[in-house]
Amino acid sequence: MYDQLTGRYTFACPARGEVRVPLSRFRVLERLPGAAHPAVYKITFACGCGGEHDGLVTHDELDWAPLAGSDATFLNLMTSRLEPAELELLDLAARYIQAGDWPWSFFCYPEERPRPVTPSAFRVLSGGGEELGLAVECPTCAHTTVNVVSREHVDVPFYNDRHVGVVEHVFVHDRELAVSAFRAELNSAAFDASRRKLAA
Ligand SMILES: [Zn+2]
Ligand SMILES: [Zn+2]
Repeated sequence: MYDQLTGRYTFACPARGEVRVPLSRFRVLERLPGAAHPAVYKITFACGCGGEHDGLVTHDELDWAPLAGSDATFLNLMTSRLEPAELELLDLAARYIQAGDWPWSFFCYPEERPRPVTPSAFRVLSGGGEELGLAVECPTCAHTTVNVVSREHVDVPFYNDRHVGVVEHVFVHDRELAVSAFRAELNSAAFDASRRKLAA
């Protein structure tokens, strides 16, 4: 569940009970087969207790809840009914998007261009300090690219880094096999990223 006031998702921790984590603490996002309406994602997240746990979020929570405003109690994800405050904020978000301003974006290496994206296209995030390795499956070409970005780039809708690091490698499409090896590589900081311009 997403809390708009804090910009955090609520999950369960076996040691601490309920914990709230921002998107940048997600580590692996995996769409579960079967559930289509709504689609459900299994999230592996880095918890404040030092461990990693799994939780579930719906597609709406992942992509739309961060855009929907300041009071979570009015957003009923079961019925998709929105109170006026959320509608206004979603309308504002829609106008930004129509003006070419996307809540999230990344630089697609195979296409050599920036692409708009939503968090459900995020696949793997690495830990680290100021910067994060972010693997995104491009909604347009379906290839996965790794960008090196700030935390705000991930956590704050409509904030996009002006330049991002791009790992110049085309990753295999079959990520079922690749995800654990890929995580190991991402965490080892073995990637050599070059800077690309993302936003004006
Ligand atoms: Zn924990
Ligand atoms: Zn692409």
